[in-house]
Amino acid sequence: MPRKFVISPTKLRIWNRCHAEYRLEYIDKIGKFYHRARAGFAFGHSLHRVLETFHAAGGVETVNAETLSASLDAAWVAKGYAGEAQETEFKQEAARILTDYHAAQVVQAETAKAEAVRKGEPAPEPPRLFLAEKALRMDLTPDIALTGRVDRVDEHPALDNALEIVDYKSGRTEVTPEDVSGAVAMNTYQAILKVKNPDRRVFATIVALRSGASASHEMSNDEREAFLADTTETGETIRTKDWENVLPVVNAHCPYCDFLPHCEKFWAREKRRQH
Ligand code: SF4
Repeated sequence: MPRKFVISPTKLRIWNRCHAEYRLEYIDKIGKFYHRARAGFAFGHSLHRVLETFHAAGGVETVNAETLSASLDAAWVAKGYAGEAQETEFKQEAARILTDYHAAQVVQAETAKAEAVRKGEPAPEPPRLFLAEKALRMDLTPDIALTGRVDRVDEHPALDNALEIVDYKSGRTEVTPEDVSGAVAMNTYQAILKVKNPDRRVFATIVALRSGASASHEMSNDEREAFLADTTETGETIRTKDWENVLPVVNAHCPYCDFLPHCEKFWAREKRRQH
């Protein structure tokens, strides 16, 4: 049986910003010649690794702030930095983020307990880790599957075992509910989890690690159906695309794109050909 075409938030993001980039990345597959290690990516990856281990070990109930900070050394990805000074600066920032993250988690847990005492209720069961760094997948059609990799999913006993998708953003200081509702990745995770867990509430939260700010959104049934219909249509368009004539066209993303040297050579060749 032929393999299904798999669509993902990354593929959708690239397709939406430049069809030629999609071709170079996934059809021509020449990304390995152009992608560069980036400090921001390595920094984010390091923090993700530390937080994954922290939550898998039980979070603030079992791991103190010192242990969390100390785990940074083992998880640190030392690629993509401009030099030792820049790497040190990023590492110090990562340590600060982890210290603040731990303190905020403690406050959150203590606030929930204090609220229960005030209401004369038993202390609420803390959220449990449901999934960590896990690929989710569902079929959209017999030919297309949708997939996405979640950072973390918590299960909340105090909310009838609702599932909360938690996504860390290491470069941001602010986030709004509109950011969450407009994020293709968050919609992908929510849609798949809800389809697989129809009897539970499913909502998504983005945590801006640099400030600790967070925002959430819960997809309505209508939003989920519209998202899945749009994604199916886009997936079918990409799956059946004739790539021969998909060529680079200058757009707003070009200055930030790893393929720019490739496209500049193409444009120079085209110019010479026309003269
Ligand atoms: S450089 Fe511009 S045209 Fe070329 S792939 Fe990147 S975004 Fe697309």
